[in-house]
Amino acid sequence: MVIKAQRGNTLRAKGWRQEAILRLLENNLENAEDQDNLVVYGALGKAARDWPAYRGIVAALLKLEVDETLIVQSGKPIGILKTHEDAPIVILANSNLVGHWSNADYWYKLYDQNLITWGGLTAGDWQYIGSQGVVQGTYEIFRIIAHKHFEDSLKGKFILTAGLGGMGGSQPLAGYMADAAILVVEANEAHIDKRIETGYLQHKAHTLSEALTLINKAIANKQAISVGLLGNAATIYQEILDQNILPDIVSDQTAAQDLLYGYIPEGYSLADVARTRQENPEKLSQDAGNSIAHEVRSELEFQKRGSIVFDNGNNIRTQAQQFGVTDAFDIPIFTEAFLRDLFVKAIGPFRWIALSGDAQDIKLIDDYLLETFADNDLITDWITKANEYVPFQGLPARIGWLGHGQRTKLALAVNDLVAAGKLTAPVAFTRDHLDAGAMAHPNIMTENLKDGSDAIADWPLINAMVMASSKADLVAIHSGGGGYAGYMQSAGVTVVADGTPEAANRLKLAFDNDTSLGLLRYADAGYDASLQEIAQKGVHRIDTHEYHD
Ligand code: NAD
Repeated sequence: MVIKAQRGNTLRAKGWRQEAILRLLENNLENAEDQDNLVVYGALGKAARDWPAYRGIVAALLKLEVDETLIVQSGKPIGILKTHEDAPIVILANSNLVGHWSNADYWYKLYDQNLITWGGLTAGDWQYIGSQGVVQGTYEIFRIIAHKHFEDSLKGKFILTAGLGGMGGSQPLAGYMADAAILVVEANEAHIDKRIETGYLQHKAHTLSEALTLINKAIANKQAISVGLLGNAATIYQEILDQNILPDIVSDQTAAQDLLYGYIPEGYSLADVARTRQENPEKLSQDAGNSIAHEVRSELEFQKRGSIVFDNGNNIRTQAQQFGVTDAFDIPIFTEAFLRDLFVKAIGPFRWIALSGDAQDIKLIDDYLLETFADNDLITDWITKANEYVPFQGLPARIGWLGHGQRTKLALAVNDLVAAGKLTAPVAFTRDHLDAGAMAHPNIMTENLKDGSDAIADWPLINAMVMASSKADLVAIHSGGGGYAGYMQSAGVTVVADGTPEAANRLKLAFDNDTSLGLLRYADAGYDASLQEIAQKGVHRIDTHEYHD
């Protein structure tokens, strides 16, 4: 059976809140990299523990009353609790282990016993919208690099990167939208083909020289182009270095966090990977780690020669360091290098999904944003480009970076449009875990915070409790699985705009409180821009300095 999200206006569940969550779950699988194995993205990020668990979740959502809450533990439905109409419809926790046990070896042991599931950020809590989910983040990174290093334009500039999976598949489109010539190395041909089919990538090349011919021609003509090259990143990066070619920007978005399921070692075919994983997993991990080390050494050499190199959130530096690359952390993380100025103002990725399945609904919301936020370049530039270039995958959806007050304004306007019948069905809003108040990820989101509080995981846990207290429809607490085990903690939230006054109340409470917490988190870490935003927008902060003797 192939799972697709239900479209249209017919309810199968007992209300729109339950129906919306069910459609989001189905949408995750519709967009999944490997639906048969419930893997949505990130090598192992799953929508449910196994098929019986998936069917159990669906059955529960279908019969769930509006004053009940479904509890899901690491992708498995556990029970339905009687709560009340303002309580979440679903509460989820994925992959959380007690600190001392939170490491990859122990996690894989539990995974092999089918006791645990990794939810990634948006896989296990049913918020995935295909590669668009990170395309704006990557596009903003390129835009900021252009601003800082290339006189505001990437025309005629060469970006080298790797990985065309669920998330990495956003890179070619983001590079193209930023006017660059982007080459993405990918070891799995089917993934190159999928990005071409979904409109995220233009060309496929089988050899480096074929790829470079396309790239060089585009650079000479200052034209944007995206090329997927079938090959292994560790090998190809070395070959590019050996040919003395210097890309302007270098990164990688393979699933390097996972040595068993995520990163393909040099010299391995896909069949070799599958066989070695069964026969000799330790060898596979060693070989993957050594190849990552090789790739990161090349990245460091590119950096020395003058390329702008950054880690795009896949723990590749951590892996390389463990395999002997002592200076791996000379490569900066994208959050600190490019996006922190936005996060400290609680501006981050916010998304909305048209449960109708009708692309016109998203278009109408785009138009609203362009008119209402006309003086906000960050959003208008993005919405204009997204409208032109970003194809929908599954239920039509949009992502947009918005801050405190802006998210609520949009959500309430959309709720009104649903109520007025201008949108053909309700709209679900979800907020990415990679957001100001929702994530502790010391090698990714919270690296080098001013006050050194990088690894303190109280914030995402407080976030989830605040969301549940603020009437959100789905609240999730995630921790790292596989190679991410022990490295992070985050929280996710979904709220449904079904056009009712109750929904308006839920949207306002949840999204105002969510970004308030983001501002409070960064203010606490010593960021002046957060304090200014707090003062301007009237967020109630307690400053204990006032209470010193
Ligand atoms: P995925 O598993 O869907 O795709 C990974 C891709 O890398 C696969 O297509 C695989 O074939 C390819 N690959 C693996 N080893 C390779 C090699 N040596 N050479 C060339 N290609 C290779 O994973 P994904 O969903 O695309 O996520 C990728 C990474 O990005 C993960 O670490 C994920 O956690 C991270 N991520 C970052 C952000 C962010 O905001 N920056 C957001 C989401 C995910």
